[in-house]
Amino acid sequence: MDTMQKIISLCKRRGLVFPGSEIYGGLANTWDYGPYGVEIIKNIKDLWWERFVKLREDIVGIQSAILMHPRVWESSGHVAGFTDPLSDCKKCKKRWRSDQHQKCPECGGELTGERKFNLMFKTFIGPVESEASAVYLRPETAQGMFVNFKNVKDTARKKLPFGIAQIGKAFRNEITPGNFVFRVLEFEQMEIEYFIEEKNWKKEFKNWQSEMEKWCWDIGLTQYKIREHDQNELSHYSKKTIDIEYIYPFGQKELYGLAYRTNYDLRAHGSSPDAPHVIEPTFGVDRTFLAIICEAYKEEKDRIVLKLKPEIAPIKVAVFPLLRNQKELVKKAREVFTRLKVSKEFDDNGNIGKRYRRQDEIGTPHCLTIDFETLKNNTVTVRERDSMKQKRVEIDKLCKSINQF
Ligand code: ATP
Repeated sequence: MDTMQKIISLCKRRGLVFPGSEIYGGLANTWDYGPYGVEIIKNIKDLWWERFVKLREDIVGIQSAILMHPRVWESSGHVAGFTDPLSDCKKCKKRWRSDQHQKCPECGGELTGERKFNLMFKTFIGPVESEASAVYLRPETAQGMFVNFKNVKDTARKKLPFGIAQIGKAFRNEITPGNFVFRVLEFEQMEIEYFIEEKNWKKEFKNWQSEMEKWCWDIGLTQYKIREHDQNELSHYSKKTIDIEYIYPFGQKELYGLAYRTNYDLRAHGSSPDAPHVIEPTFGVDRTFLAIICEAYKEEKDRIVLKLKPEIAPIKVAVFPLLRNQKELVKKAREVFTRLKVSKEFDDNGNIGKRYRRQDEIGTPHCLTIDFETLKNNTVTVRERDSMKQKRVEIDKLCKSINQF
């Protein structure tokens, strides 16, 4: 099995990610986050929001609607330009990206001429499916910030430079293969539109690049590379874009983007030509999750372990009574468990070795075992995930230090 398959299988086996609509045979390029996966996702989003919104004076958040007026997408250029070039195989009728294939990769058949395929999902408001009632599911969160620029500026009383941030779902009708949660039909973005004076764009761009790199290191990502877009690769709104690419098991591909969008969007929505300029750092939640899992996944001699940063780990501490049929041990373990105020798990199933393996595979940094010595002197065995070293610690001290975390 290749590494990616092993990671997908671990995610399924341990309740991190399940194939979407699995009991109906699955729906391609959709995935559901399970009990541990959703904790990781939530930790990523909370850390991001705290760092870029709560603790900064110059950035405020919003949550805009997924369905927006169709004219938003005309003005932004998405109706005309948010397309992939596609061709059909004349033999087997499968559809492919014509910028990536000359012949059908499946049967070798000849491909038809290129057709532009818009990536936005279309739906209808009300009972009549007509062009007049058509709306799109947003393909990016950014436009929510642009259309609210004036509302936010007037109410948050911010002066340039300042930013508007948002975390939310975006939808794209992707036809290229997914690679697990790397490319999905619905995904979450964490985006900032940072409004600046035009003359400062180079300085602000550099600053945001370094902010993004610091974020990567702080959540445990080291295997990334910076790649600047060539002129012919730039989006219609951008003067300079870099991608932070991650070295996934299936290759080096985009993780995040940083774009200088000029004043294109505000002008497109009707602001005057002296509208502020914009630097846009954009972070995909699902690709963050994937990169974190890929980097944390380690196969060691007798175990598989996710070496997640404690801030990211879904469970911070697991509590084990040494034996499940010893009432005193279970009672004491329950007592310790109740005192811990972090996300935690109680496990009295099977032998201790098996319980450790399970916690290793979901990345729990510490396991506490309550044994007979605990009953005598109020100490527990703490086992550390990465070194697998064990030490005895007083319960009071331990609860204090874990709860502080
Ligand atoms: P790609 O070239 O891989 O399609 P993109 O350049 O179109 O990506 P952007 O429009 O810059 O992506 O979107 C911003 C961020 O949203 C990306 O950096 C990525 O993290 C995330 N993202 C985009 N499309 C998807 C998708 N289909 N599935 C999951 N995440 C996505």
